[in-house]
Amino acid sequence: MKKRIAVGRLFHESHGYARPTMPESIAVVRGDKLIEDARGNGTTLGGIVDALTARHDVELLPISDSMIAPSGPIDHGFYVEQRCFWEDQLRRLEPDAVIIDLHGSMGTTEFEDAEGDFLAHIRAIAGENVVIGVGLDLHANITPAMLTAADICIACKQNPHDDYYDTGKRVVGLVFEVLAGRLHPVYTLAKARMITPGKLETHLGPLKEMHGRARAFERSSSTIVDISIYNAYRFGDYTDMGQAAVLLSNGLYPQAEEIVLQFAREFWERREEFRDELLTIGEALDAVAEKTDRLPRALADLGDRTLAGAPGDSTLILQAAINYARPLKGAMTVHDPETVAQAHSVGVGATVAMRLGGKMTPQYQPFDVEGVVRLINRADVKLFGPNFAGESAGIGDTALVEIDSRFQVIVTSKAGFIVDPNVFEFHGVPVSEQDFVVMKSQFHFNRNFNGLATSLYIATPGLAYYLPGVFAKRRARVWPDTDVRDDPIIAPQVLHR
Ligand SMILES: [Zn+2]
Repeated sequence: MKKRIAVGRLFHESHGYARPTMPESIAVVRGDKLIEDARGNGTTLGGIVDALTARHDVELLPISDSMIAPSGPIDHGFYVEQRCFWEDQLRRLEPDAVIIDLHGSMGTTEFEDAEGDFLAHIRAIAGENVVIGVGLDLHANITPAMLTAADICIACKQNPHDDYYDTGKRVVGLVFEVLAGRLHPVYTLAKARMITPGKLETHLGPLKEMHGRARAFERSSSTIVDISIYNAYRFGDYTDMGQAAVLLSNGLYPQAEEIVLQFAREFWERREEFRDELLTIGEALDAVAEKTDRLPRALADLGDRTLAGAPGDSTLILQAAINYARPLKGAMTVHDPETVAQAHSVGVGATVAMRLGGKMTPQYQPFDVEGVVRLINRADVKLFGPNFAGESAGIGDTALVEIDSRFQVIVTSKAGFIVDPNVFEFHGVPVSEQDFVVMKSQFHFNRNFNGLATSLYIATPGLAYYLPGVFAKRRARVWPDTDVRDDPIIAPQVLHR
């Protein structure tokens, strides 16, 4: 008998301080197209679909797929509509298992823990015998609600997330262990009441050591199936937010509480180590002007990272580069649907007087500048990868506007995933001919520019650069915003269905 397995994705990292994300900016893919699009792509859903396709005992049941670029909280009505669709489909299809790609820090305009709510509803419809498997991003704000609703709920282990695909495959393997009656999942969760302002790469610093130790614990006992370490999304605002360790064991594991507590305490004790060393815009332009090799510099515009939910409408680096003492050449994106429409209406070759960008982020102003329209585009731009390989950049209609014969500005009608050379190459702008390109990402662009550019990190103002006190927490009690020295640890909880 074939196992009937429902699959899909509802992936969003919700910025608690940005404008709500409305339905018109969200793509929903259903039916066979979901499977076709996911096959072989570098995401958790890609790994899930490929692992299930490789098995001969599976009938795939595609439900719904929304891969939403980070942005403000999801419109609650849209979320409820999606959840109801899943519920209707699961009621109708009666699958043996449900496997879902979720981020884990999605909020709606009404709910702070959308995934917890979503999984509780899926469990209520599916019943007790259906196995639910979830692959999360390690920036999830993991909650007891998620861990008690799902059978399998684990995070990817790398930032940049090079292991999304493998995480999807792993979730499938573990779901089949539960289906076979060999795995009886128990979760033990502990948190430190803090956020990590920086140093979030897992191949460096404290996180490298912590993940290394987690892998050693996994090898030390066949009862320990997985240890996921979560760096809760800095721009969210959740009750009981914190840096988390979750141990998944096959049945109860006596030392589990001690192990997760040890990780939580380590986060707390090493909290000062989680800070980045960053450049100002001026320092970064000096570094570009003074470079002695031919590789362009990829400037990470940290305050305006669309990959962290900011709108991507900053022109601050562009303005500084125009005014810079030495003549640099550069390429960047600006999210500004009005200017895209203006460029499309005047057409290629025309000069436009723009009020460019700065219309969405409160700290920015529109930049009055003239440029020549070089290209207008309505086609979907795909990412080369390896991070997010094959996914849509999600930037909507675009226009390439050239300023001062030196700056290639790709104006986009959606914020999108600005992490990839093809955002430029697609528009006929070779990365190799620039002195610099601007990225709206802190981590994920690195692999995609490997060998094409050298990265520099700039502490630009904006919605996506974490500074204590700038994003006042209403629900969360976390260092460094709040003094939690009397009570820094959320004690271990053992959770199972
Ligand atoms: Zn992440």
